[in-house]
Amino acid sequence: MKKLFSLALTIILALSPVAAHAEQQLNFIRDAEIENYLYSLATPIYRAASIDPKSVTIAIVQSSTVNAFVAEGMNEFFYTGLLQLTDSPEQLAGVIAHETGHIAGGHLIRGKEEMRNASAEALLGTLIAVAAGAATGNGGVAATGAAGGMQIAERGFLTFSRSQEASADSAAEGFLESAGISGRGMAEFFHKLEGQELMPADRQQQYVRTHPLTQDRIGAIERFLETSRTKDAKLPEKFYSMHERMKAKLLGYLQPETALLRYTDNDARIAARYARAIALYRTGKTDRAILLSEELVKQEPSNPFFYELKAQIQFESGRIEEAVANYKKAADLLPESALLQQAYGHALLESKGEGKDVSRIDQAIQRLLEANRLEPRIPMTWRFLAAAWGRKAELTSDQDFAAMATYALAEEASAQGKDKAAGALAARAMKGLKKGSTYWLRAQDIKLSIDDAKREQDK
Ligand SMILES: [Zn+2]
Repeated sequence: MKKLFSLALTIILALSPVAAHAEQQLNFIRDAEIENYLYSLATPIYRAASIDPKSVTIAIVQSSTVNAFVAEGMNEFFYTGLLQLTDSPEQLAGVIAHETGHIAGGHLIRGKEEMRNASAEALLGTLIAVAAGAATGNGGVAATGAAGGMQIAERGFLTFSRSQEASADSAAEGFLESAGISGRGMAEFFHKLEGQELMPADRQQQYVRTHPLTQDRIGAIERFLETSRTKDAKLPEKFYSMHERMKAKLLGYLQPETALLRYTDNDARIAARYARAIALYRTGKTDRAILLSEELVKQEPSNPFFYELKAQIQFESGRIEEAVANYKKAADLLPESALLQQAYGHALLESKGEGKDVSRIDQAIQRLLEANRLEPRIPMTWRFLAAAWGRKAELTSDQDFAAMATYALAEEASAQGKDKAAGALAARAMKGLKKGSTYWLRAQDIKLSIDDAKREQDK
């Protein structure tokens, strides 16, 4: 079995746009459960800001640094260090509302004018693509060269002015109020960061450097709370448990040793046992991890993420048939998750199946196409699809599938920003595909858009 992925919560590398002086690597994380929570919490805030929730991309950066930033208009980045510092969904909602205030206020556009480095925009665009590419393990593949060689300084476009900070705060207060979320969390988070500004710059958390925090800002939110109609509002219960589980999951994955100390055997809370199951798995204690994940599944038989965890541990320990069954349950429970469809399709692809392989391959293809429909630009999904079509070509000796595999590799290269390779692969796929057929047309689209971009460059 080829070990193609290692984490459901997957990590990928790129260069950071927020390094003040030196280059810094950014690790991105894709995780269906954490993204599901962040979008659920953010959706009412985006609506309050008159922003279509579908137009915003949330990216999770794996770093112990406390930071969040917005880029290229509709992209919000949250660091795991910040997610782990927040104690409640209200505190996190405060941060989301503030970042959304920068988007709604058009602060990015002004920031762009101030950019000294022309490649900054390109880099940020690449970062979004790389963040999407983080889907499913094997981070190395999508990471290679995606943002390689580009450097950028923080100063000039990621730091907002004091007036922009004040305006983002006041917008955030309004969004929280109309979304029915208490602003107390925002004030609490400010207090957590208080004092940071008095530290030397190199010791400050990045969040304070990119979003200058002042006594004026703290005073303003306190005054707002005096008259806020929603200051005592409570979010639905599920948000508190989603928040608790997000923190448990992050700790279990990123600091498994610490998680095992913090969440002890005596701790019966679901979040605690979740953190332990993940941490045990991450430290190689597979059997105990599977036992714990089975208990979690029993306790919440309609929770897709517990099936996903169980499936992932089974997949990695070579128990592919069981992994297929559990990924199926996870994907059936949350059919709109591209990440779960992709993981399920990948497990099907690696499974031997009953008798002839072809029906398993067809099922894998179906799941991977569904993952693509839900989220079209994940390079890894295209990579798996290329493997599936390639396998089908071998089993059926039908060369159309070989050409489709080449087309899928062209899509993968295109999603990774590797234009030259994408153009060559698309041209090769077109030769094998029936002229005018769906995939021939799509391959032609890739080729034409890359030819256009090249002509633009040559001008
Ligand atoms: Zn800010």
